[in-house]
Amino acid sequence: MQFTFKTYKDFLKEYEKYYTHQCAKCGSLRELSNEHVDVVIDDRKMHFKDLLVLTCTTCGIGCLPLHTKQMIDGCYKLMVDEGHYEGEQFYRSFRKKFQYCKDQDFIYDHRDYYNIPGLCFDEEHSVEGFLTPVYFTKKVLLYFLQDPEYTVKLGAETYGYFSFKNEWRIPFGINRNGKVVFWLGDLDYLDDQTLNIMKPHNIDSDHQLIVSEFYAGQMCCIWSEPNKEIKICEQKNTIFSALLSQYNISLFHLEDEIEQQKDAYVKPVVFTEKTIEPTINMLHKVLIEGVSITEFRKLYLKIVAHPNEKYLEWKSIKFYEALLGQIITKDDDVREIIAPLYLLNDFRQYYDHLLPIAKKNEIRENIRKFLNVLSFNDIEDLYVTLLNRLGRLFEYLILGYMP
Ligand SMILES: [Zn+2]
Repeated sequence: MQFTFKTYKDFLKEYEKYYTHQCAKCGSLRELSNEHVDVVIDDRKMHFKDLLVLTCTTCGIGCLPLHTKQMIDGCYKLMVDEGHYEGEQFYRSFRKKFQYCKDQDFIYDHRDYYNIPGLCFDEEHSVEGFLTPVYFTKKVLLYFLQDPEYTVKLGAETYGYFSFKNEWRIPFGINRNGKVVFWLGDLDYLDDQTLNIMKPHNIDSDHQLIVSEFYAGQMCCIWSEPNKEIKICEQKNTIFSALLSQYNISLFHLEDEIEQQKDAYVKPVVFTEKTIEPTINMLHKVLIEGVSITEFRKLYLKIVAHPNEKYLEWKSIKFYEALLGQIITKDDDVREIIAPLYLLNDFRQYYDHLLPIAKKNEIRENIRKFLNVLSFNDIEDLYVTLLNRLGRLFEYLILGYMP
């Protein structure tokens, strides 16, 4: 990357510009990136090995953020003073420390605070450095997930809060490299015991923050979409409401219990057989158990010309399947689309501790095959595929039955 300024005055003009998180050319988001950059001012050339540049994540156009420009200015002045015309510049990994969390000495990069748009123009906090991103591996949350005094709750896919009893509650996010991010100033509210548990998982900044629900929510006040799991529950409500208005039959059942389930639900941050069990339970309760079977029978008789002779023995999945059968003609397609509900049911059974091992293995293999996932050990892949397929099933129903 190269930036050329004919005169120092031109550079000063550039200095006055402030670049936001959005690319001026294509509107996509920018992120900080470490680049090889040549900067020419007047007749002096500076070669930077790694300089933080704000780069558009779509079109790749780079621009110079605030602190980077200050560094360039400093280098230029030094060259003038020392009479140099060309030089290699290295970042000597100097790290400024802010007044927050001094005892813990967390790893962070003060350049993020000055370079990422908006962070240092924080009028709420008088002490400098509050909105400095501090990065952790995902493991940082593991301990707290298991301790009932703490709450780790992802309200959106990658944006949530972390709290301890009624004592403190702070937001966190997950960036696009899967790193957990907190604000340095927020960490200052936490007690030493908590911080000591977190500290071993603190890692170097990768400077990635802007393309995240966390940054959008915290800096741009953009509400994140609800997470996938809750969205599927809402899709079920949408289809049930549509059926109610069209056929005057309400399939809603155990509504209060379902709301409680959804409120108490904590989206997994890491994916293991154990951490996804609450999701499987919650979705099973909401989608399969939270359905009025007697009303579903009535609806079935209304929409089907020739009812199946065994329909009185049916549970909710069979009725969902019948609904689908009315809007999709090919039986194979119906089976394919309804499959994730059967799998959800199998999955729920899988967690039944009384099940013999042979039966468990059979279920595992069945789930793996249906979801077309290479190994049952790849829980994240399995989980995401199951959620996507459930979402798709309800999309079909909504499309088919929305008035
Ligand atoms: Zn762009």
